[in-house]
Formats: sequence, structure tokens, C-alpha cells
Amino acid sequence: MALKNEYLKKNYEELSARYAEQKEFIQAVREFLESVEPLIDEHPEYEKAGIIERIVEPERAILFRVSWVDDNGKVQVNRGYRVQFNSAIGPYKGGLRLHPTVNLSVIKFLGFEQIFKNSLTGLPMGGGKGGSDFDPKGKSDNEIMRFCQSFMTELAKHIGPDTDVPAGDIGVGAREIGFLFGQYKRLQNEWTGTLTGKGLSYGGSLARTQATGYGLCYLANEMLHANGMDFKGMRAVISGSGNVATYANQKATQLGAKVVAMSDSNGYIVDENGIDFNVIKEIKEVKRARIKTYLDYVPSAKYVEGCSGIWTVPCDIAMPCATQNELDIEGAKALLANGVKAVAEGANMPTTLEATQAFLEAGIPFAPAKAANAGGVATSGLEMSQNSMRLSWSFDEVDEKLHGIMVNIYKNISDAAEKVGKPGNLVVGANVAGFIKVADAMLAQGIAY
Ligand code: NDP
Repeated sequence: MALKNEYLKKNYEELSARYAEQKEFIQAVREFLESVEPLIDEHPEYEKAGIIERIVEPERAILFRVSWVDDNGKVQVNRGYRVQFNSAIGPYKGGLRLHPTVNLSVIKFLGFEQIFKNSLTGLPMGGGKGGSDFDPKGKSDNEIMRFCQSFMTELAKHIGPDTDVPAGDIGVGAREIGFLFGQYKRLQNEWTGTLTGKGLSYGGSLARTQATGYGLCYLANEMLHANGMDFKGMRAVISGSGNVATYANQKATQLGAKVVAMSDSNGYIVDENGIDFNVIKEIKEVKRARIKTYLDYVPSAKYVEGCSGIWTVPCDIAMPCATQNELDIEGAKALLANGVKAVAEGANMPTTLEATQAFLEAGIPFAPAKAANAGGVATSGLEMSQNSMRLSWSFDEVDEKLHGIMVNIYKNISDAAEKVGKPGNLVVGANVAGFIKVADAMLAQGIAY
């Protein structure tokens, strides 16, 4: 889709020239600008206040060296990042990613998306993201601990309960958050809920582990109902087998779907009887093994080498829950040819722009990541509230609040899509609804901040 609005076109051209090498970031901005075009046409006050120029530049980007010593006594050096993108509606909030593909472009795209996602939750949270190109795969617990401590030694200078509250993302689960939190507390000599996703014995929230996957299914279910469908009886394909995928599998199964395929970056498994949540949890959370080992537990399942082929497995609903740009036009064509009825994104920007367009043109209900995976950060917001109040809510209490938030997000994004003349287009709806609140807060707060 070509941008027609001159103001947006100019901003996009300048940004893509300035950051030509930041492909993921430019891709995320492109989708956003296309979505908010009708709104910008109608509201000249946004252009007058330079909202677009300001919203696409992070308020602050911190790049730092992370040196640590491996088990052989050798010095290792990684690059650390924290991009504090926008604090108009609350303290920066967003996860930390540890993966060799992490660079400034990836962190900026994630931080940019986070602004609108956090806004959609209805909670007072700004947008940020961070991480490092450190690869946790194959590292000992001690190496992970030393890396996390070194990473936090610098990061601690820039975060705080009212400034910036990081959480987990790819490669950062309960173990890493524990090491990061321990080091933060040691350095600051105070106990505050500055990280979320903490263990239950030290301020974590019940249901945070499950929240992104559960929230994805709650939102997808609203979308299915609005289109005369239900998870009940559906075949689902979920890519990935990490935190989001594991709990999306559990909730989709509880809601009556059969999850027939899951993957990791090496390959995918197909189990026509429905993938067993307990086996995945054991393999991934306890053994930290490859998904291939599912066959040791369920010999009737099938394993296929290479992860992209997962989209050729026939299904009614596809839920990409692994990583960015994992579902491309080839995957979309295969899904459409096999009669896919709905798509809901669990990962951040897992579908390429071309593939998203193909689903929208085919009239397939499509739940974009910004809205569909907002349950994780929403529950992190609930963890912050519990920490501030020195209270712990029960699992059911948190789950009920999460469910309410996801139902509300669906309503807001579908109303917003309708309001700008794109009924049913939830990509547009999510960007517009997320943007308005942030833009209006920026307008109210003046320019030099
Ligand atoms: P994890 O690290 O727990 O899991 C990531 C999973 O994806 C692993 O199974 C990994 O396999 C797999 N994977 C990576 N690349 C590919 C690929 N190309 N094809 C297939 N599988 C792949 O991360 P999360 O589950 O936490 O995060 C997944 C996505 O969800 C990310 O985009 C993240 O930003 C997003 N997200 C996460 C939230 C959370 O609360 N955790 C909240 C909102 C969004 P392998 O082990 O082989 O690397």
C-alpha cells in the first residue's frame, strides 16, 4: 500500500533514508504509518505538533558493553541495548531479549511496537525494549548468571520503578529475571518492583508466566466469535515452543481446539492427536531440550527438519508465536490454499507486510501482535500494581483481570477500525486506538520534553 498523505510520506522517506540499515524498525514504522493515515488526514493538529517526527524517534537509546568471564576463564564481550522509546503515558515498559540476532534495529522495532501495545492495555505504561546479542543457548547457569549481573551493572543506572521497568522476552525467562533482579537489588540497596516476570517468592505475579499465551487466545476467541466461529473443534498450528507458544497451546486446547503442530528454530512436530502441553513444558522449561525430543514421549508424532514448513500443515487457525518475519508470503499462500480461517499473532511482527496484506485481502480475520500479545505486558502492569501495594492477588483474580483487558482491547480495536472506515481491519484498529492516547498525551505535555 502506498502512502498518500504528504506529511506521512515525507516522514517515511526521511526516516528510511536516515536509518536505511534498520530494516525491522522501518518495517514496523511503515505498517504503523499506513494504518494511521486516515486519522492524520482528519486531524491536522498532529502534524502541527510534529507528532509523527517525534513518535518515531526514541526519547533515549542506551548502548553499552557487557563483559563477562566464561567457564573457561575467557573474557567475553557482548553488546547491550535499552531503547526508552516513549514515556508520554507512563514509565518505559518492555522486555529484554537475549538472542544473537539482537541489534539496534530489532530493539527499536520492538520498542516502537511496545508504545502502542502498552497504550492498548489501558494501563499507564510507556514503551521501551532492550536486550543483548548474547546467546543463552548452551551456556551454563553460572555463565548466564555472570552475564546477567554484568548486563544489569550498567542497566541499573537507567531504570527504576517510576522510570523504566524491564521484563522478559526471547531468551529471558524466570531464571534470567532472577539473576537480573538480584543484581539490581544488590546495587540499589532497595526492594522495588523494577523488573516484572519475577519469581512468585519475591514479588512475581501469579499468571504472568501464562499471560501472553492465554491473552492471545482470549483475544483470538473474541475475534472468532465476532466472525461466527469458535476455538471449539478447530485445528490450530502454533509456531515456536517458548513461553508464548507453550501457554497458547494450553489455553487453545482448554478452549476446545486441537493444536496439531509446534516448532523451534530447528524444525516442527505434528501430532494429530493434539500436542500434549505437559510434554512441551517438560521439554522446554525443565530439560531445555529441542522440540524433536517430543517424539521420545509421543512416538506416533512426526518431526520435520526446518521450521518454515510448519505453515504447510493444514489448519483452521494459525498462531505464529516464535519471532519476527517468520510467516512470509510463501507461508501465507500455503495457509490460504489449505483453507485457514483465522490468524492471530503471538510473537512480535511475525507476519511480513506482504503476508499480512494477503490475509487481509482474502478476508481472513487477522489479530495483530500489538493487540493479540498485549496480555503479557498487561499482566506485568498488574505485577507492578501488586508490588506497589505490597499485595498478591490470586491466580484467578489475575486471570480474570487479564481476560477483561483482552476483551476490552478487542472491542477498542474493532471500534477504532470501524471509526476510520476500515471495519474488520484489526491491524488498522490496533494502530489507531494505540496511537490516539499516546498522541493526545504528547499534545498535552508540550514539545520540549
Ligand atoms: P522464548 O525464548 O520463550 O521462545 C521463543 C521460541 O521461538 C523458541 O521455541 C525458539 O526456538 C522459537 N524460534 C525462534 N526462532 C524461530 C523460528 N525462526 N522458527 C520457529 N521457531 C523459532 O520467547 P517468547 O515465547 O517469550 O517470545 C516469543 C515471541 O513472543 C517473541 O516475538 C516475543 O517478542 C513475543 N512476546 C513475548 C512475550 C512474553 O511475555 N514472553 C510478550 C509479548 C510478545 P529455539 O529454542 O530453537 O530458539
